[in-house]
Amino acid sequence: MAVRPIVVWPDSRLREEAKTVETITDEVRSLYKDLWDTMVAYQGIGIASPQIGVAVKMFLIDAMVATGEDGAPPVAFINPEVIATGTETDKSDEGCLSFPGIYVPIERPAEATIRAMGLDCEMFEIAGTELLARAIQHENDHLTGKLMVDFVGPLKKRMIKRKLARESDYEGAEAEG
Ligand SMILES: [Zn+2]
Repeated sequence: MAVRPIVVWPDSRLREEAKTVETITDEVRSLYKDLWDTMVAYQGIGIASPQIGVAVKMFLIDAMVATGEDGAPPVAFINPEVIATGTETDKSDEGCLSFPGIYVPIERPAEATIRAMGLDCEMFEIAGTELLARAIQHENDHLTGKLMVDFVGPLKKRMIKRKLARESDYEGAEAEG
């Protein structure tokens, strides 16, 4: 198990379309453990594979948020598909490990149902409201290369880019376009 560096926007790896997981191999299980370690280290409630630079369809959500189980391992969502969303929406501040220190109000359906495969190869469905509905949709977006900044206007996007470039050790970040 290892804590992996978080890929921070505007790194182009966050825009890659993630690949389907064909079968649960040791590699997939080891990716799960790295995601788990990294999520805990950065105090996230969810994390998607592209955020540690691996373009495969898997994300994790903290067990307390996903199932209400305290102290259980995070839930793995493999090859997930959002199969239903409610008609009512909810606007709330969202954060993302790939946008450290940035919070953006985002309007999303208040309910979402997702179907995914677990590490045991079994398919499962989870219907979420409030924070879980938001986490499901946010993490699922990562697997298609969709990010928080896609919900804001160009001015706000520029502000976020400047703020992240200023706080980053990576000197080229601002020039990345
Ligand atoms: Zn995120």
